[in-house]
Amino acid sequence: MTANPVRLQAIAAVQATTPPPFDFDPAAEPGAVFGENVFSLQAMRKRLPKGVYKSVLSTIDQGAPLDPDVADAVASAMKDWAMEKGATHYAHVFYPLTGLTAEKHDSFLEPVGDGSAISEFSGKTLIQGEPDASSFPNGGLRATFEARGYTGWDIQSPAYILENPNGNTLCIPTVFISMTGEALDHKTPLLRSQQAMSLHAKRILSLFGHEDPQNVVSYCGPEQEYFLVDGHFFHARPDLLSSGRTLFGAKPPKGQEFDDHYFGAIPERVLAFMMDTEHALFKLGIPAKTRHNEVAPGQFEVAPMFERSNLASDHQQLLMTTFRSIAKKHGMECLFHEKPFAGVNGSGKHVNFSIGNAAQGNLLLPGDTPHENAQFLVVCAAVIRAVHRYGGLLRVSVASASNDHRLGANEAPPAIISIFLGDQLADVFDQIAKGGATRSKEKGTLTIGVDTLPDLSKDPGDRNRTSPFAFTGNRFEFRAPGSLQTVAAPMVVINTIMAEALDFCVTELEQAVAAGTDFDEAVQTLLTQIIADHGAVIFNGNGYSEEWQVEAEQRGLKNLRTTVDALPELISPEAVELFSRYAVFNEREMHSRYEVGCEQYVLSIGVEANTTLEIGSTTVLPAAVRYQTELASNAAALKAAGLEPDLADLTSLSATIADLRAGLATLADAVAHEHPADPLEAATFARDVVLPAMAAVRAAADALEGVVADDLWALPTYQEMLHIL
Ligand code: ADP
Ligand code: MG
Repeated sequence: MTANPVRLQAIAAVQATTPPPFDFDPAAEPGAVFGENVFSLQAMRKRLPKGVYKSVLSTIDQGAPLDPDVADAVASAMKDWAMEKGATHYAHVFYPLTGLTAEKHDSFLEPVGDGSAISEFSGKTLIQGEPDASSFPNGGLRATFEARGYTGWDIQSPAYILENPNGNTLCIPTVFISMTGEALDHKTPLLRSQQAMSLHAKRILSLFGHEDPQNVVSYCGPEQEYFLVDGHFFHARPDLLSSGRTLFGAKPPKGQEFDDHYFGAIPERVLAFMMDTEHALFKLGIPAKTRHNEVAPGQFEVAPMFERSNLASDHQQLLMTTFRSIAKKHGMECLFHEKPFAGVNGSGKHVNFSIGNAAQGNLLLPGDTPHENAQFLVVCAAVIRAVHRYGGLLRVSVASASNDHRLGANEAPPAIISIFLGDQLADVFDQIAKGGATRSKEKGTLTIGVDTLPDLSKDPGDRNRTSPFAFTGNRFEFRAPGSLQTVAAPMVVINTIMAEALDFCVTELEQAVAAGTDFDEAVQTLLTQIIADHGAVIFNGNGYSEEWQVEAEQRGLKNLRTTVDALPELISPEAVELFSRYAVFNEREMHSRYEVGCEQYVLSIGVEANTTLEIGSTTVLPAAVRYQTELASNAAALKAAGLEPDLADLTSLSATIADLRAGLATLADAVAHEHPADPLEAATFARDVVLPAMAAVRAAADALEGVVADDLWALPTYQEMLHIL
């Protein structure tokens, strides 16, 4: 019998790996390369005629309609810039409902009649592209024979150069719509929702006396968690390869229980990776700022500075692509799955959001005495109303088969959507509920007790890591989004529900004032009303506790535990009415997202189930059977030598092998079973029949991992993947 060498060879290979040398000078000023590959405002100002530049600027800053004459001038300048940077092709980049990034590449060269070619890039090709749309999910919006789809230039997100050893590409961020004008992507609704929110936020500003206020935008600061594993291990794990998570693997003897990884020293190899990614991100104008170890071994975080939400969303996608490719260059794989390792902390992508503009700044900034800051209180009350009325939509915006493993698992917020305000604000709103706020708790200082150290200033509110929607001093942090997801989906919901809530507030105030009520009194009445109607969503306690589940139910808050529970939120009459009213989605678009959501759920569980079957039958079972043979022949040999063999190990191993076989048979049946035609019923079948069948196979296989001889075990273990980098 030969030992299985795959895993042991991988361990040896990992130990021999060293980081590749940098192809840049790490000591050079990061500022020098920042935005080097971006057709930024600065680049445009240099290259465009003054009038054209001004027109571009007013579209970007003020949301003014794009002047078509301007496009030709921009296209020509953009092409020259890109070709100077070595670009041979251009690509319209868009974000289809797969959650991935799609690119259609075209050459700058256009053939002319005489057999030669000239380089050509007109305003028309900049503004509009026409990729075949039939291969992207559309949820019944368009039959495949009507394959036309259009991409349209998003001028608010700058074009950039993507470098490749074999030639560079000019990338143009775009929206992606069907021939009937319906959104097939994540960006179209993001821009529409942004516009709706801005309109009503401006009305609030006008009401508070700001004359002719500027466009208000939503900002998003995404914190991205991820795992790194060595490529040798990754390639020896078909489950990581095909589904992004381990479908097998016993709990390691050492996990995260020592809390020794969070903010720990970053391993050298990982630091090299981080420096390389930061350099690449800086060139693309992505402001990666914070980096640190996360809770689990092998887990890390990067947090770029917040930006306008559509730009942050594009940058987020680009960040993931960049991380994946640079990890490969360093012989590692970057895992964005929400739960790559069972029993180990999962990865999220916290979405920090605020709204504001250059003139008035951040509208969620409370100041030192929030009780006197009526404008802030109204905006904050709007958030409370929005999250309470539409918690179900926030929940569904982060629903996916993979994020289901994380939400509610005592490492991420529960599926119940509530708001954490912190001591100071909770107190102010308490006072409002009782008739009026007259004071704000003070900031205070922390005395360390060492004369040479300065006193530190203390935030007026603590943090609450168990809350899905937490106020963190000048923004709200939505902690439920998963690491693999686009931030566009939650931002669409946040913008839209904020549009509704701001619209409500400003309409109430306008009516009260028109009826002769004093403005301050009208504000007080509105705030008291909102707290009375929506205060139930505020929860400052421990969101991980059992008691909260019970209390939330008494408060009437939804607890949509799984994606299947959450998906119907998308087609509820209230949701359809809301999104149509603010012109973000029409009813058909909502239905299409619902169907795509169901489809993606079924597909991803289907891939996992087939991979479980394959690994179970072709890797785990053979190892176990070989070991069974070894134990049996050992017993026979002992018997032949006149010794009485102890058969306990063999008996117990045989029983576990029988469990594995039974589990595989049940799973094979579940996979072969015809899924119901209705999309939600199909998803329900995947959740209630396929997932438990996979779990049964895994339980038997993980038990076998603990008994089968180590040299026969082919799958790299948790211990190895998490601790050897
Ligand atoms: P944490 O301590 O929550 O892990 P990080 O520093 O890792 O915080 O990330 C905080 C994120 O919040 C960053 O992306 C940061 O740019 C973003 N952020 C800060 N201020 C705002 C704001 N006003 N609006 C939106 N995002 C913000
Ligand atoms: Mg962080």
